[in-house]
Amino acid sequence: MSRHDPDDLMSVREDATSWSSMDDADRRRFARRHARRLRDSSPDQIVAWAVKQFGDRLGFMTSLGFGGLVLIDLLRRRLPVVQACFVDTGAHYDETLELLERVRTWSESDGGGRVCFTVLRPTVLSESLIELAGSPPWQRNPDVCCRLRKVEPMRAVLPTREAWMSALRRDQGGSRMTTEVVRLDAGGILRIHPLAYWRSAQCWDYIRSRGVPYNPLHDCGYPSVGCVHCTVPVIAGEGERKGRWVATDKTECGLHTTAPEPDT
Ligand code: SF4
Repeated sequence: MSRHDPDDLMSVREDATSWSSMDDADRRRFARRHARRLRDSSPDQIVAWAVKQFGDRLGFMTSLGFGGLVLIDLLRRRLPVVQACFVDTGAHYDETLELLERVRTWSESDGGGRVCFTVLRPTVLSESLIELAGSPPWQRNPDVCCRLRKVEPMRAVLPTREAWMSALRRDQGGSRMTTEVVRLDAGGILRIHPLAYWRSAQCWDYIRSRGVPYNPLHDCGYPSVGCVHCTVPVIAGEGERKGRWVATDKTECGLHTTAPEPDT
């Protein structure tokens, strides 16, 4: 099967075994089997399989990075309504929050599936955040800051779905270089990464050819956009995630073992 043949969906069949009836060992085998089987499939084929396999038990989380927007569009081609979880950390760029509205409006205008965002927010008060992480929390203890503002809100919704889709890609580097299309994480969450083997340029070709809205900060030197306090522009040619948490050795939100990663 060609990786780029979106019409060859016959082999992207669902697995007859239901997720809820599997024990831990079955689930590990399921993840390994489908990671191997779908490795050479296109993102569209992987999305088709995930939708068929899990139906409305499939979750999707995005922070509206360009990879996440590719997935939104692929899901819109298969579903009348795309349910997407977005974490509002309280520290996003205005451009990111405006994009949320632009995606909503765009999705209602062209005949594809409508995008409905569930916006998750931290429950911890800012005084408690400072008490637990110091001040400012993103400098004093960014891991705690991310946990309270991002990971904990996500954890609340994890049990509502059997599998979670996100936009991690191998070419983002770091720990993402070993991203599998399907993986059971240490917390027992099944993750699906249809873009694992796609490169940045393929995502951008897709976005431009389909007229998918995207964050204008990407055109201003921000290949990856996170919170205002922890994102800076990069020099052309630097790694996609080079502008995140630059003053620290932190490279991830801390979501990789216990929660589905958004495309941060
Ligand atoms: S990215 Fe920075 S500001 Fe945002 S939650 Fe993490 S540490 Fe806090």
